[in-house]
Amino acid sequence: MNTLPLFFKLKNKTVLIIGGGDVAYRKALLMNQADAKLIVIAKNFNEEFLNFLNEKHHQAIKKSFDDNDISQHNPALVICATDDNAVNQAVHAAAKAHGVAINVVDTPKLCDFIFPAIIDRNPVVIGISSNGTAPVLARLIRAKIESTLPSYLGKLAKKAGDFRETIKNTLPTITERRYFWESIFQRGLNDEHIDSLPDELNRFINQGKKSGEVYIVGAGAGNPDLLTFKALRLMQQADIVLYDALVSPEILALCRRDSQKIFVGKKRKDHAKTQEEINNLLITYAKRGHRVLRLKGGDPLIFGRGGEEMLACRDAGIDCQIVSGITAALAAGSYAGIPLTHRGVATSVRFLTGCYQSDASFDGLKSTYHPDETLVFYMGLHALEKISESLIASGLPSSTPVAIVCHASLPTQEVVIGTLSDIVAKKDAAKLNAPAIIIVGQVVRFAAASLH
Ligand code: SAH
Repeated sequence: MNTLPLFFKLKNKTVLIIGGGDVAYRKALLMNQADAKLIVIAKNFNEEFLNFLNEKHHQAIKKSFDDNDISQHNPALVICATDDNAVNQAVHAAAKAHGVAINVVDTPKLCDFIFPAIIDRNPVVIGISSNGTAPVLARLIRAKIESTLPSYLGKLAKKAGDFRETIKNTLPTITERRYFWESIFQRGLNDEHIDSLPDELNRFINQGKKSGEVYIVGAGAGNPDLLTFKALRLMQQADIVLYDALVSPEILALCRRDSQKIFVGKKRKDHAKTQEEINNLLITYAKRGHRVLRLKGGDPLIFGRGGEEMLACRDAGIDCQIVSGITAALAAGSYAGIPLTHRGVATSVRFLTGCYQSDASFDGLKSTYHPDETLVFYMGLHALEKISESLIASGLPSSTPVAIVCHASLPTQEVVIGTLSDIVAKKDAAKLNAPAIIIVGQVVRFAAASLH
């Protein structure tokens, strides 16, 4: 973060503006909106600007700037908007000498603070900044956010503000108050509920003190684009987050900022916490009244042990929601351009694991394998040799196409294509690393041409 966004109270504080043209005028309008007292010094004033200053009872002083202006007026902020570089430099030097924050318009290196693109739905104010690198982009982002916010947002915030004291006196803890407001606003940003806040409060109190809840959430295969809206919503209201190794830092950053984040990752042969310990943590935190998010890669119920966690919660009488995520097999298929079923080529797909496979279970595969089936192996990279040998031994032609999709959906994605007979050599040559999905079947022929 190059600059820290702060919301500065300017009411009745003096802002000194140097410059009398259009640019200075635009800044003066903004400062006036924030209730600042303006003193504007310029050799020449744009007439409309001068009229505005007079009408709003601000001070306009027609003269050249000199160093004493700053000590004399003792402003909270200085804004300099002249087209004379020497004047801009002089104003900057004088402000620095007095320790006053200054903005020289359009000159980032002479600015202590910058103006963001602003959405003003008073009392809700949103500022967007690209730190001077791409102001047009910041304005486009503003337009995008603006279009999603209802026009009565300000009214909504104001009513909530008026009711805050009552809530504070009724609900003693911050957590209870947060739950109350979330229960109101999560039903949608509309003014329906806000008009009946006293009723809503009674209802909330009558529900009694709820124990916590567990959310078992699939975060998708890695790319944050693959999160569901529901996952994001629960991520933003969780108190405690227990996350896996497969959950990327970008996804973790989307969880509520002040939630407590606990790594419980499991990697092959290197279990940070046992499943039982994880189940216990979920239950213990939920019993203390917290909303506990169990964040997992892909889908929680596909090779994710989400089922065990769900059962543990159920046994302990803890409410538990499960949110599906885009499992690695689906992400690998779509991001590598491999349809897992395809009319006339594959009519079914089977998800298997390369981990814990014994020869016996591959034998089981032989008895049920159909030529028009796609096999997808999770956790199979380290066992690729065994998998291919077993499949050939089970009767699959050694020419059967195989794809390895590593880091599916992520910028580091790699795809290696081969056949059951040469895929191990290709994997070794490409020095691939986990996580990887292995897709076996005729559908692999459709992988994006550029990948071959
Ligand atoms: N619940 C997860 C699977 C967890 S098991 C899901 O539904 O996707 C871990 C295995 O998932 C890894 O060994 C790998 O086979 C697969 N995997 C997870 N993310 C992946 C990714 N981005 N690319 C390829 N494989 C992935």
